Amino acid sequence: MTKALQIDSKWRDFAETRCAEADARLTPARWAVYTELVSSDRPLSAYELIALQEDRQGRKIAPLTVYRHLDFLIKVGLVHKIQSTHAYVPCGHPDHAHESQYLLCTQCGRADELESATLKRVLDDMALKRGFTTTKSVVEVTGLCGDCAAVKE
Ligand SMILES: [Zn+2]
Ligand SMILES: [Zn+2]
Repeated sequence: MTKALQIDSKWRDFAETRCAEADARLTPARWAVYTELVSSDRPLSAYELIALQEDRQGRKIAPLTVYRHLDFLIKVGLVHKIQSTHAYVPCGHPDHAHESQYLLCTQCGRADELESATLKRVLDDMALKRGFTTTKSVVEVTGLCGDCAAVKE
């Protein structure tokens, strides 16, 4: 028995649009992985994702297929991978291609996506001044989110 997840319809629109642009199909399995990430209040590791999916679908799932779905979702711009923690998070604004930066709370595990074109430009400029051409930059800042910091005070 599959336990359905309730999520805001905007995510369905995001997913269908990005898949259509990539000339790809939003299969039920891809959608299931995506909704699992959207429903989570923090990034999920592939291992956590597989466990949640197995519980929801009441059957074993081959890890490889989940990795394949994740790769697909990343490729079409619906999901980002947090490099420092190897966790996956849905993009908050997948309506255009961008590089993002993250604020990662070490207390509750939440990831807050920043999408700063300014920051990217500063990094690219600094690199260029040294004759370096950037292909991709990963900015992940760890610390305490506002909620967790408030509790500590
Ligand atoms: Zn994003
Ligand atoms: Zn926190």
